[in-house]
Amino acid sequence: MALEPTPFLSVTIPIYNEQDNIPALWGRLSAALAPFDARGWEVIFTDDGSKDASLKLLLDLAKAEPRIRVVEFNRNYGQHAAVFGALAEAKGEIIVTLDADLQNPPEEIPKLVAKIEEGFDVVGGWRQGREENDSLFRRLPSKLVNAITRRTTGVKLHDYGCMLRAYRREVVDAMLLCKERSSFIPALANSFAKRIAEVPVAHAERAAGDSKYGLWKLINLQFDLVTSFSLLPLQMLSVFGVVISGISLAFSLGLLIYRFVHPEGTVNGVFTLFAILFFFVGCMFLALGLLGEYIGRIYTEVRDRPRYMIKKVHGGE
Ligand code: UDP
Ligand code: MG
Repeated sequence: MALEPTPFLSVTIPIYNEQDNIPALWGRLSAALAPFDARGWEVIFTDDGSKDASLKLLLDLAKAEPRIRVVEFNRNYGQHAAVFGALAEAKGEIIVTLDADLQNPPEEIPKLVAKIEEGFDVVGGWRQGREENDSLFRRLPSKLVNAITRRTTGVKLHDYGCMLRAYRREVVDAMLLCKERSSFIPALANSFAKRIAEVPVAHAERAAGDSKYGLWKLINLQFDLVTSFSLLPLQMLSVFGVVISGISLAFSLGLLIYRFVHPEGTVNGVFTLFAILFFFVGCMFLALGLLGEYIGRIYTEVRDRPRYMIKKVHGGE
């Protein structure tokens, strides 16, 4: 096998049960990549354990086009693991991540690449017109994710959830060194980049099939994000504890003074006590849950299992 020159551009796409989107995706993507023919490009699909005909369609594509490679996972590991699988395979100087459902138009890729070439390390897409395409139910959690990520990472971007993003080689190499399982790629990338830009990109409705994210998966992603990028929740607990003890100290002092001032007065203490007690019981559960969240994550990290298992890498021979 002749040593291939490094391609200029790698496009990485996670695929989980997207058989109805793959033909249209490839049609539009190949047209969008044509301007990069001279400098060289490659496309890496990860089949994240699809149960439909996706893998077969991808293998057919790879057979017809040598610049396509397919990383086949042995089961479903989730979107971010799938993207990682493709990133590890990508050889390009600039790496673009893209979703398969055509919500991010492949036609925007040249725009991202041009921005990177202006000297940025990471360029994120900022989805325009999301209101018309995603349900409120799907948008609200995203809003929350964005707000919390802005806080915890300290990088002010409009849209963290958009997976249409471009990275420089060095940023991807740094990300690949991170062994933690629960990672949120856009936030992780920003922690290794100096110059970050955002370009507005169009956003469409999912072309076919259903979103793979239910409420539960989104909540999980949110926990990933908060616990893997900051110790903020733990620190908040201590702050909360200090505030609460301060208040109860003041409260007891107040009661003591009241006793001295009105020695004859009676306070119906039982109900007050119950109210306060139940409040604290709630807080304790919250605190325990948060601690458990961290401990659970430590547990998964120390087991140090691989993030994914590749069954086979197809194509590119
Ligand atoms: N995906 C994946 N593994 C999963 C879930 C999703 O590889 O377990 C892929 C999916 O095929 C798509 C992308 O991740 O290319 C984004 O998924 P989806 O469109 O369902 O997410 P949403 O747009 O609702 O955030
Ligand atoms: Mg989608």
